Amino acid sequence: MSNRRSKISIEIDLAANGKHTGYLRLPHSVHRSAYGFLAMPIVSIRNGTGPRVLLTSGNHGDEYEGQVVLTKLARMLAPENISGQVIIVPMLNFPAAAAGMRTSPIDDGNLNRVFPGDPDGRPTWMIAHFVETVLMPEVDYSMDLHSGGSSLIYVPGTLARRVDDKKTLDKILELVRAFGAPNCYLMSGGTELGTGGILSAAERAGIIGVSAELGGAGMVTPATLAITERGVRNVLSHLGVLAEKVDAHPTRIMQVDRAAHYAYAYDSGLFEPRVELGDNVRKGDLAGVVVFPDEPWREPAPVHFRGDGVVVCKRVPARVERGDCVYHLASDVKL
Ligand code: CA
Repeated sequence: MSNRRSKISIEIDLAANGKHTGYLRLPHSVHRSAYGFLAMPIVSIRNGTGPRVLLTSGNHGDEYEGQVVLTKLARMLAPENISGQVIIVPMLNFPAAAAGMRTSPIDDGNLNRVFPGDPDGRPTWMIAHFVETVLMPEVDYSMDLHSGGSSLIYVPGTLARRVDDKKTLDKILELVRAFGAPNCYLMSGGTELGTGGILSAAERAGIIGVSAELGGAGMVTPATLAITERGVRNVLSHLGVLAEKVDAHPTRIMQVDRAAHYAYAYDSGLFEPRVELGDNVRKGDLAGVVVFPDEPWREPAPVHFRGDGVVVCKRVPARVERGDCVYHLASDVKL
């Protein structure tokens, strides 16, 4: 890890009690603004000692469930209702979130692939470095809210790394069960985006990190927002940050195996799906076919599942290219 310091500055005092709102300033010198900065909103609500929790969304800018709910909580949470601290950054990759895009339009960066980042890199890399080396050391817990974005939709679930350390895994699962989403997707250490994701950053920072896949399709629904808000409040209550009663809902703990559980198109055309979210499928089952309106006489190209499981995620746009993920599965796991 680099010893170089972040150039992102914080307008508010994270150590101060009370509610403080302002911006993270990411220096951004461009043609229209020589001495300008990107203004990334941040809210700190602190009351004495107690667990400190970092809540983030907009890591991928086109994933809106977390952005809507954290925006609401940023307004509603008051210091007098809190023991400890909640730090909210609702547009974590700010340029991506401002543009409603998965990746940043100013540097093409995918924030959840570039941790631990680079303090001297482009904005997305600077943000990753700032989160891992400045924000995470200030907190005990990190919850980063994702969804399927523009191209995928999920059965709502929390997402976590299946870390090797049993004590850490138990703490992660405690939060997962407190959140109470319908599913939890456990990614084995070797398969979660290498080490470039925010959950790996949390692990390196020595804090408990949980993420989520709360819906997607570039939209929000009352149902997914209700699961998201209830889940975040439940976690805060479970930790004792809020004094609300935990609204318990069962969570199906599942594992995801990248090799066996992801189904991809190998042809460019229109994908005709043959299964739906929630279906149980077996290895070799037909996931769908790619059809070719530009060669309507051509035989459709089948896509088969490569493992057994439950369909928990599907592609949204019908148009596919070779290499696009059309489904992913998960399977029950006993811990
Ligand atoms: Ca995501």
